[in-house]
Amino acid sequence: MQKFLFPGYTIGVDAYQDIPTVCVPHGRKAVMIGGKRALAAAQKDIEQAVEGSPIKITGVFWYGGEASYENIEALEARPEVQEADMIFAVGGGKAIDTCKVLAHRAGKPFFTFPTIASTCASCTSLGIIYHPDGSLNEYSFSKIPPNHIFINTQIIAQAPEKYLWAGIGDTMAKHYESTISSRGLSPEHTDACGITLSAMCGGPMVKYGVEAMKACKANQVNDALTEVVLGIIVSTGLVSNFVQVDFTTGLAHAVYNGFTILPEIEEHHHLHGEVVSYGILVLLYVDGQKEELAKIWKFNRSMGLPTKLADLNTDLTRVPLVAEKALKGIDVRVYPYKVTEQMIVDAITALESYTPD
Ligand SMILES: [Zn+2]
Repeated sequence: MQKFLFPGYTIGVDAYQDIPTVCVPHGRKAVMIGGKRALAAAQKDIEQAVEGSPIKITGVFWYGGEASYENIEALEARPEVQEADMIFAVGGGKAIDTCKVLAHRAGKPFFTFPTIASTCASCTSLGIIYHPDGSLNEYSFSKIPPNHIFINTQIIAQAPEKYLWAGIGDTMAKHYESTISSRGLSPEHTDACGITLSAMCGGPMVKYGVEAMKACKANQVNDALTEVVLGIIVSTGLVSNFVQVDFTTGLAHAVYNGFTILPEIEEHHHLHGEVVSYGILVLLYVDGQKEELAKIWKFNRSMGLPTKLADLNTDLTRVPLVAEKALKGIDVRVYPYKVTEQMIVDAITALESYTPD
């Protein structure tokens, strides 16, 4: 039984200085592939970091704007990509996942350079593939995570803070969803490690979230920002690598999926992690975790994350639709009790007039 779970990582304002030491054992020729804004933010710093080292950047390419097989094939056709010893994946989740699946198919080592901290994509082996129109195509499962993650906190501090903000919501869900989904079962060693590790996706977000947001707004790096970025990228990514898919999702994501049926969510540009953070309140209410609900409700308020439907530009008349759609996916397939539409409706209704004691 061979398991590939741990990517190495370097974090800090000088994280890129480690590139030659880490990458030279894997070859000489690297292609850099990323998002347009990501390349504008990081390309020069990466090039400077490898200057005078044996690593040569033999090509720099835009990933194509969507993590699709069409874009992966277009990149595969490039001679620089075919001849490269390794791939440098630069950007947010979609750019990283494009490179990840490209590297998996080509059997090449890949290194990630997250330029925003909104998801754990730069740490995980899983690739999420979309159709060219942006709709979900499939999950590309693999056991191979990136060889190393280079997390330049200065670049992340300069990105719009909304990504960090939403990333915090998504990260916290990992803790509640994996602990509830696995409750009453006897997960084997790897799953159990991941579920235990998921505690690092909860507490540190509450402890450092507000200070981290302040730093990101001011484009500055502080210890709180570093802790939160590690939580969003590394803690969550490791949980995802360790834990089987049944335990990595749950009611917060089911509720998110429910809200995707409402056009107002898209129209008002509510982010995935933002809606998920509201889903956590529903999850905690349904699960009867009163103290935790009060804590996270207050945290959401202090962060400007949603606590009621108006924060998501919708209202109670829409909730039956949301509840129906929420249970159509696989998110609560493995759960310690049967979640019903009525439970979701009751929780959301109660949250509308909820205040912690
Ligand atoms: Zn999520």
